[in-house]
Amino acid sequence: MQIPHDTRRALDVVVALVNTAAEVDHPDALADIGALRAFVKEYAISDVGELGARDLAGVRAVRGKFAQVFAAPNSRAAATLINELVATAGTTPQLTDHDGYDWHVHYFAPGASVGDHLAADGGMALAFIVVSGEQERLRRCEAPDCRRAFVDSSRNRSRRYCDSRTCGNRLHVAAYRARRKEAGAEASEQEQIVHGGEQQQGADHS
Ligand SMILES: [Zn+2]
Ligand SMILES: [Zn+2]
Repeated sequence: MQIPHDTRRALDVVVALVNTAAEVDHPDALADIGALRAFVKEYAISDVGELGARDLAGVRAVRGKFAQVFAAPNSRAAATLINELVATAGTTPQLTDHDGYDWHVHYFAPGASVGDHLAADGGMALAFIVVSGEQERLRRCEAPDCRRAFVDSSRNRSRRYCDSRTCGNRLHVAAYRARRKEAGAEASEQEQIVHGGEQQQGADHS
């Protein structure tokens, strides 16, 4: 799936934002304004001005909406959610080449709050995925102790786990098991898995 660079970047922000929500293995990572400031800085969210309590509440609300899009059972449900999101944010497409970036489109309206900014640009990036017929790629990690959101960019939409360190490892182990099974190997599986789990992807020792 070809995703334009800007869209990819906006999607990264969406995924990062969704993953700040409390999950079984970590508390809410967007609990105060300091955390919001750090997020805005890390993802270089431009033109958001001085941040206050209202911004924090706004961004947390948008985070909830994005999470709903990831949970949408089909593209129609996702489309409805995205339409609401971008309508509320008041999108205004603008071509810009600020700060040394090449021409790209900002969807957030001039002077938008950080919440509306994220809703507009993140919402349009999610819209691109739905328009491309790829809503299924908006996934959550299937590891029961993880559940992180991610965008599956694998060719055959087969990715089940996120790329965090633990889950990436899990992924390699699963792939390794599948290869062994296919090969009909009788080697001591437990021991091999331990080693297989430590291997980087691409390592081929069959
Ligand atoms: Zn920009
Ligand atoms: Zn995971």
